[in-house]
Amino acid sequence: MSEVTQQKANPIRPDAGWKELPWGGIIPVGGTARAFKTGGWRSNRPIWDSEKCISCMTCWIYCPDMSILVEDGKMIGIDYDHCKGCGICAEVCPPRVKAITMKPEGV
Ligand code: SF4
Ligand code: SF4
Repeated sequence: MSEVTQQKANPIRPDAGWKELPWGGIIPVGGTARAFKTGGWRSNRPIWDSEKCISCMTCWIYCPDMSILVEDGKMIGIDYDHCKGCGICAEVCPPRVKAITMKPEGV
């Protein structure tokens, strides 16, 4: 594997304080989302109804955080560790299916 394609170690600790972050909020390496449970930012939560879901994968295509969990070509849930609650999945789910609804966190 070439040096360019090798995964570099993440130099930012998940518990780093703001004074330790790189200037300008620069993300110095790729793949850092694995080390940070950014779902904690969420104020609205997508609720998925497995009974209604037809596994069309539209939400998987549009989710900006790759938080739609898939197994054997079927949706199996939502990765709440990384879902930011943007609501795109609920918007793109076919209207006749409506398998995802957004709810405020903690309600
Ligand atoms: S709410 Fe946004 S981030 Fe969360 S699963 Fe839906 S599309 Fe992805
Ligand atoms: S868009 Fe709706 S029906 Fe399609 S996979 Fe996602 S939740 Fe299921």
